[in-house]
Amino acid sequence: MGAFRRASVFARFHNKLKIMTIGKLFDMVRGWIDGASRRNVLPDALWRETVASLPFLAGLNADELSRLRELSERFLARKEFATAGGLELTDAMCASIAVQGCLPILNLGLRCYRGWVGIVVYPDEFVIPRVIEDEFGVVHEYDDIAAGEAWEGGPLLISWRDAQMAGNGYNVVIHEFAHKLDMLGGEADGVPPLPASIPRSEWEGTLFSAHDDFCSRVDAAEARAEKRDDSAWEALAIDPYAAENHGEFFAVLSETFFETPDVLYLEYPALYALLSRFYRQAPLERTRSNAGECRKFPVEMPG
Ligand SMILES: [Zn+2]
Repeated sequence: MGAFRRASVFARFHNKLKIMTIGKLFDMVRGWIDGASRRNVLPDALWRETVASLPFLAGLNADELSRLRELSERFLARKEFATAGGLELTDAMCASIAVQGCLPILNLGLRCYRGWVGIVVYPDEFVIPRVIEDEFGVVHEYDDIAAGEAWEGGPLLISWRDAQMAGNGYNVVIHEFAHKLDMLGGEADGVPPLPASIPRSEWEGTLFSAHDDFCSRVDAAEARAEKRDDSAWEALAIDPYAAENHGEFFAVLSETFFETPDVLYLEYPALYALLSRFYRQAPLERTRSNAGECRKFPVEMPG
């Protein structure tokens, strides 16, 4: 399957969307590595395998990796994993989700994920029956197919099949955890609680204008696709699902920021710089130092 999630035709009604029910949940619930000491809950071999499976961690230095491991261990000690759809939960799943989920908060702290404990892992995409009311008061019922979902104050749902596609700009785990950061300020509206150094006006000005531009490009691609132009979507280096609304834009662009920062920097350099200040990380710099030289980005990277 392609890496792009289906763009919902109900995007404009997103802020009225209400989750009514979801299918089968919680086949199995258990904590992380039953009985394991909280002092070393990520065994060396599992840690090494997890890091090796996530290429976007390759640029982290020894100090960052050490802090990521410690943060992931504390995360695993505090969160509860469950599965659905008959999936057998493994330590590798828990470790992978913990490490990916902790990357965005490496310099922000675990308190950013307070207020919820559950993570439900599905074997594949799952169906969420939804009921929405549009601006004319008409109620629409439909099934949404999702690779991930974050509930405000509730659990985080992840398709394990999609989680394993991480590494090339599509990262359902980082996506859902970005929603969790966003939800610290209430509804996932693309404006998470901001540090004092980032005025809300600056955040909205940069993020929303980039979103407007991206929506125009998605509209243009859709128009070309309707004329049976097979290459219509190729010009978009970023998942068109990001056009859905500001909340999805922040979540998708967070995936891009951590996995393919070069793409984000080329497309929206001001937004890359803003996310770099928000997350207090410079993944593009990590990519550069990995390559050992700076060929593609002659411009000084913003601080
Ligand atoms: Zn989302």
